[in-house]
Amino acid sequence: MTQEEFVLDVRSMKKYFPIKQGFMKKTVGFVRAVDDVHIQIRPGETLGLVGESGCGKTTLGRCVLRAIEPTSGTTLFQNRQGEVKDVMKLNNHELRAIRRDMQLIFQDPYSSLNPRMTVLSIIAEPLICNGMARGDALKERVMELMEMVGLNSRHLERYPHAFSGGQRQRIGIARALATNPKFIVCDEAVSALDVSVQAQIINLLQDLQEKLHLSYLFISHDLGVIQHISNRVGVMYVGKMVETAATKELFKNPQHPYTEALLSAKPMPDPRKKSNRIILAGEVANPAKPPSGCYFHPRCPYAQDICKSQAPEWKQVGEGHYSACHFAGELQLQGAVAQ
Ligand code: SF4
Repeated sequence: MTQEEFVLDVRSMKKYFPIKQGFMKKTVGFVRAVDDVHIQIRPGETLGLVGESGCGKTTLGRCVLRAIEPTSGTTLFQNRQGEVKDVMKLNNHELRAIRRDMQLIFQDPYSSLNPRMTVLSIIAEPLICNGMARGDALKERVMELMEMVGLNSRHLERYPHAFSGGQRQRIGIARALATNPKFIVCDEAVSALDVSVQAQIINLLQDLQEKLHLSYLFISHDLGVIQHISNRVGVMYVGKMVETAATKELFKNPQHPYTEALLSAKPMPDPRKKSNRIILAGEVANPAKPPSGCYFHPRCPYAQDICKSQAPEWKQVGEGHYSACHFAGELQLQGAVAQ
């Protein structure tokens, strides 16, 4: 992929958390939360990131923004001037500047807003911190952002408790949009909301994406949401990316046994239809002590001897379709029922 084609190109991203023990707090091991992950996102595109809880998707999202410091890796990001910067090499001053272009929408609209601040102060904060507006212009910009996300701008002096969960998430979205970013990490952005409200927020995110030409890294454990919003999907298991493909292709033609198992657990559109749910044996592997070879081998119904000793390569199995399985392209795996 050439540099002009992506807004974000993450290579070999690793985040290992040290395990400390004893009086001297000696490092006795590492939790491999993110383990050598590559992702690329084009302008105006949504990459959905899916996997079970604890698979490292939230940590990856935060490492990309350097909200937490990665252990190693590069994040090439094209800023608003069209320059490609390695976010990992920026000093604090440069990082603050590039963060205008890269924002985060949090999972929980209840705890992510300061209850002692008015909506005006919450949305104005990034504008003030970045010296982007003040006085009447600041208030006007906040009102414009509120209208943009479907909130009544007359309510700008209200506090978060006066709003519903969906409205609070709209406040969070307005705050993320304040600096006019190009790229947003949406971390389980609709998971805490009722299903009907989820649909409204997803529609809002899609409308904003089209209008403002935004790119999203959309993190969710909910395959239905991921299928609806994403152009491409990445599947993570124990800190590793195991498969990526265009959304339709991944749901129809999975090429990794873990993806097949996840898809089989997706609720059926017609509850009277029989589901072919694959029940995986055992527990998710411990990222502090991952199994040898393929991390998925203790649970994989297709595992062979080679899987226990050799880690699978990242293989291309189709146009934009990659899988980390020794037998990718050879197994007859079941996709999800079309909705
Ligand atoms: S490499 Fe082996 S254990 Fe891993 S997913 Fe493929 S078949 Fe299963």
